[in-house]
Amino acid sequence: MPARWIRWLARARALRPRSAAAVAESLQVDLPPAAMNKPVLAADTVAIGLGGNLGDARQTLSWAVKAIAQLPQTQLQAVSSLYGSKPIDSSGPDYLNAVALVTTQLAPLDLLHALQAIELAAGRERPYRNAPRTLDLDIELWGQLQSDAAELTLPHPRMLERAFVLLPLAEVAPQCVSADQLQAVRGQGIELSQGSGWWL
Ligand code: ADP
Ligand code: MG
Repeated sequence: MPARWIRWLARARALRPRSAAAVAESLQVDLPPAAMNKPVLAADTVAIGLGGNLGDARQTLSWAVKAIAQLPQTQLQAVSSLYGSKPIDSSGPDYLNAVALVTTQLAPLDLLHALQAIELAAGRERPYRNAPRTLDLDIELWGQLQSDAAELTLPHPRMLERAFVLLPLAEVAPQCVSADQLQAVRGQGIELSQGSGWWL
């Protein structure tokens, strides 16, 4: 193999783990905007949206973060600030929302079922669609996985419509949310309720 190929390969290897933007900069090439905005989440990394508007929602969400952290084969990586928002497609008191980032070796449906068990333990009831709830745990993103299955649709089919998902998600995984996506949900009346560490 010619020496210059070997040098090129060594350089390419050294660059591999870096972000697309960093690679583009060091190679002095321009990436198209779409490539810069491309959501990049490691294959084992999951963004979980937490929400609730019944009972002491802050306490329930805090308990839920701790329960998620204790799931088998799952490591809590980051928790966003806590946000307050008016019900959208729902009713009842204002919502509290946050996003947690975890890495997991669980299979997707196993994590979904574990999250549903946590919802149930928090007194979640489903009297009708979009009813007020003590706790809602949605899987927003799972690496680059895409799924059309009704039981687990990925990315979550309504995440881009919801400021209460995009804002906290942008805190813990900024590479997954573009400025245009944030702009599109402006004016949804979401406000910061408590900064990081609210769940401890
Ligand atoms: P909501 O849509 O208000 O969150 P539920 O929490 O009751 O309502 O969830 C309804 C159904 O959505 C669940 O039975 C679940 O199987 C399905 N579902 C599909 N995709 C997802 C996802 N990405 N995260 C969580 N639940 C999902
Ligand atoms: Mg849900």
